[in-house]
Amino acid sequence: MLFAGILLQLFPTNSEIITMATISDDIFDVCIVGAGIAGSTCAFYLAKKGIRTLVLEKKKFPRDKICGDAITERAQIHLNRMGVLQEILAEKKGNWAALGGLVSPSGIEYYGDSAKELDQHLVIAVKRKILDEKLIRAAVNQGAKLVENYSVTDTILLKEKGIWTIKSDKSKKEFKAKILIVADGAASHLGRKLGLVDGPPQATCSRAYIESGSHQFPYDGVCYYPPNLVPGYCALFKEADGDVVYCCYIIPGGECDTSHLLELHHKFIKEDPFMSKAIGPNPKLEKMKAATIRFGGISKSYGDHLLILGDAAGQIDPVTGEGIQYAMDASEIAASTIQEGLKRNNLGERFLKRYHRRWMKSFGRDFKWSQRMVKVCVKYPIFLDAFASVSKRKGDKFMTEWGKIMTGSKTKINFFLPKLAFPLAFETLRLRRKRKKLAKKDK
Ligand SMILES: Cc1cc2nc3c(=O)[nH]c(=O)nc-3n(C[C@H](O)[C@H](O)[C@H](O)COP(=O)(O)OP(=O)(O)OC[C@H]3O[C@@H](n4cnc5c(N)ncnc54)[C@H](O)[C@@H]3O)c2cc1C
Repeated sequence: MLFAGILLQLFPTNSEIITMATISDDIFDVCIVGAGIAGSTCAFYLAKKGIRTLVLEKKKFPRDKICGDAITERAQIHLNRMGVLQEILAEKKGNWAALGGLVSPSGIEYYGDSAKELDQHLVIAVKRKILDEKLIRAAVNQGAKLVENYSVTDTILLKEKGIWTIKSDKSKKEFKAKILIVADGAASHLGRKLGLVDGPPQATCSRAYIESGSHQFPYDGVCYYPPNLVPGYCALFKEADGDVVYCCYIIPGGECDTSHLLELHHKFIKEDPFMSKAIGPNPKLEKMKAATIRFGGISKSYGDHLLILGDAAGQIDPVTGEGIQYAMDASEIAASTIQEGLKRNNLGERFLKRYHRRWMKSFGRDFKWSQRMVKVCVKYPIFLDAFASVSKRKGDKFMTEWGKIMTGSKTKINFFLPKLAFPLAFETLRLRRKRKKLAKKDK
């Protein structure tokens, strides 16, 4: 072991090899599989508490992650604590979303400026290639160990000792830890193998960057609800480098399913009159990429010496497809639960259940309201028209309220409370009456 270490120091061909040689014999408190948003944030909080944490990541940073790059207010709190928001702002790598709005299914447009209503912007756009590397570096700076290019394929818990052995079929190195955190993303092959994550993810979303200089997008962020895509939607967000990120979210429940993504991604950006007008005639689009979305929360995200985190646990809002903030909130909850478990020397399934209860209480239960909202939008897309229409009358204040709920700063139940529900219900009725009258006239 010592000899191998000296050899590697003398011939440092690859920094990960040195890291692996020096750490593979240790027993870590926690091993996290996946250095995405969830894995890196949790590693940061664990390491900050002095808990010995190892992160295994199958790729090498900097690496891309297919995403809409919209980082909401709740996520910004964690980024701030990690020092990452400050870095992003100092390096001018983020674009605050102030100017923007939505286009409803029947084409009612509302664009406003949320900056007038808020001290803190609801969203900042940051490319994931930049963000994810900064997050894992923040965790490593706190003391977490990272091994890149290590794809975990097998995990075995030695029950009597309460120790996991973590393996890859592409490497001879094995790692040991008292707790395993599965944060391997929406597909979660490991979570499925361990029997806690059930079936494939329900939704899918495309992404393509539109090159800076090839578009004339005048806003920071706009959501478009083409009628046959509802409850899904398209989004355009401007990045700090002038690129625009284009996403098409297919959320089940409406006319479209995941098999339509390729066709719809290209169709909307070319043919949707509002999007094509906003972008201009000659956009240079990156080749479409797509990834899956597991939303709504899995029913059991814990086991013996085991937690499931982030997209793997379905910690994504069913109405927006956004998950960064929830992955970060759950990471903090996981880290404090583990700290308690280590102190009490109790890492059994019954104890770790409190992690599940806590994230359900913090945000998971609200996903049920999101699901109700999805149903409302599918049955009555006119509800989205009513929203755009009321915003036109009431202005940025109303729009900002909606934005807070959509981005998770306020709970989704607020949609069903009188302050929003009443004006939206009245407007829905008004629009219906108006449309009936017009239809009669046409006859
Ligand atoms: C197209 C699209 C657009 C989206 N837009 C937004 C948005 O605008 N805002 C928002 O908040 N959310 C958005 N989301 C959701 C957001 O991307 C996720 O919620 C977020 O990435 C969750 O982080 P995670 O760490 O759980 O998973 P991931 O970010 O997927 O990270 C998982 C990590 O695990 C690694 N890994 C996987 N398997 C293994 C293995 N076996 N061994 C080792 N490592 C492994 C992967 O390489 C990866 O680094 C979007 C999702 C999609 C698909």
